[in-house]
Amino acid sequence: MSSTSRPPSRKERGPSGAAVAVRAARYGAFVKTEIVRSQRRRKTIAARMVGDTLRVMVPTGLSAEEEEHWATVMADRIALKTRSDHVDLTARAGDIAAAYDLPVPSQIRFSSRQRQRWGSCTPATGTVRISDRLLECPPWVLDYVIVHELAHLLEPNHTDRFWELVDRYALAERARGFLLGFEHAETR
Ligand SMILES: [Zn+2]
Repeated sequence: MSSTSRPPSRKERGPSGAAVAVRAARYGAFVKTEIVRSQRRRKTIAARMVGDTLRVMVPTGLSAEEEEHWATVMADRIALKTRSDHVDLTARAGDIAAAYDLPVPSQIRFSSRQRQRWGSCTPATGTVRISDRLLECPPWVLDYVIVHELAHLLEPNHTDRFWELVDRYALAERARGFLLGFEHAETR
């Protein structure tokens, strides 16, 4: 609540009173974002939805470019989260397990911690993690990684038998090529 009598700004204001910008996140999503400079000596960047606006809390002392960078990063992240909510990994893994006669994982979910790998599995518990970077890839590439991780539930190592299992997926070779190119583009 503002207690001043200044005329309202023409710029849209967020719940905190900070200026709201609409940022284009990945996948054509548009995210209403406001930047709030922390009063306290907060060193980390944080963001949360307040109504329909993503409030990005940044430390004071960042340059305008740095603030813009972090607002965009956070907008991307929330867009990614929204998108991952729309992918039913459990159903997808179930279909793939049935089609390729592979084990059904006890649990499969997206992880944002998988920055170096596309997926991981723990054969002992039957759990599978899929990097949420795959939400930026076509569905047939995501399916390849699911096939790959489910095959690991049978065969933990990259043995000949493992690749025989995986290469039954018709687009396996293309998907590996896609992922190599994607990784290259990402790390440039
Ligand atoms: Zn592997």
